Amino acid sequence: MLIVALTGGIGSGKSTVGQIFEDLGAVVTDSDVLARNVVERGTPGFDQIVASFGDDVLKNGDLNRAALAEMVFKDPSKRTQLEHITHPLIRAAFAQIVQKSPSDSIIINQIPLLVESKHDYNFDHVITVSVSEELRRERLLKRGMSLSQINQRMATQSTDAQREAIADTVIRNDKSQADLLSEVEKVWEILQQKNKQKE
Ligand code: ADP
Repeated sequence: MLIVALTGGIGSGKSTVGQIFEDLGAVVTDSDVLARNVVERGTPGFDQIVASFGDDVLKNGDLNRAALAEMVFKDPSKRTQLEHITHPLIRAAFAQIVQKSPSDSIIINQIPLLVESKHDYNFDHVITVSVSEELRRERLLKRGMSLSQINQRMATQSTDAQREAIADTVIRNDKSQADLLSEVEKVWEILQQKNKQKE
């Protein structure tokens, strides 16, 4: 089994790359989706958050994620408190995916904020997708995001250079989608080799 992290800035093409890996046979998961699942209404995560932060973080009985985000953005101690609840649950959710997967799987976890979130897992391999901010902006505008939304998100994320510093493999996604596909296929070969060597 090979445990891989896939990161990249917003609009770099992480989801596109993740989809290609899935088509090639990887087990692909997304840390943002796991993070949402562990605090859904009715989960122990949800109960713990309401117990710690009170009803202010609820809206129509569900977690008001925007209110919670604003609260922890303003108060670092609250952020730590929230992370103490969510991080173990996210780790457990990922561990369950690993447990359920065949023993020779290549498991790829998309983690947008890998640099920012410190390493919670031990990855066998880290991949980052790099593209100039200019090209990412262009692609995200086409996808329907506004320029201010894009700039705001980019400002809170680390840079390609910071992501490249922690990566074993850098995928440059500055050409066509067909070029990206053949680049990802090459990386897939490397991952398969590495997985075989581990056995
Ligand atoms: P992320 O998940 O990193 O935010 P996406 O995979 O959603 O990025 O890609 C952002 C946008 O750019 C999507 O609309 C995607 O279809 C497009 N895209 C990705 N790679 C390329 C490429 N090589 N050429 C043109 N458009 C691309």
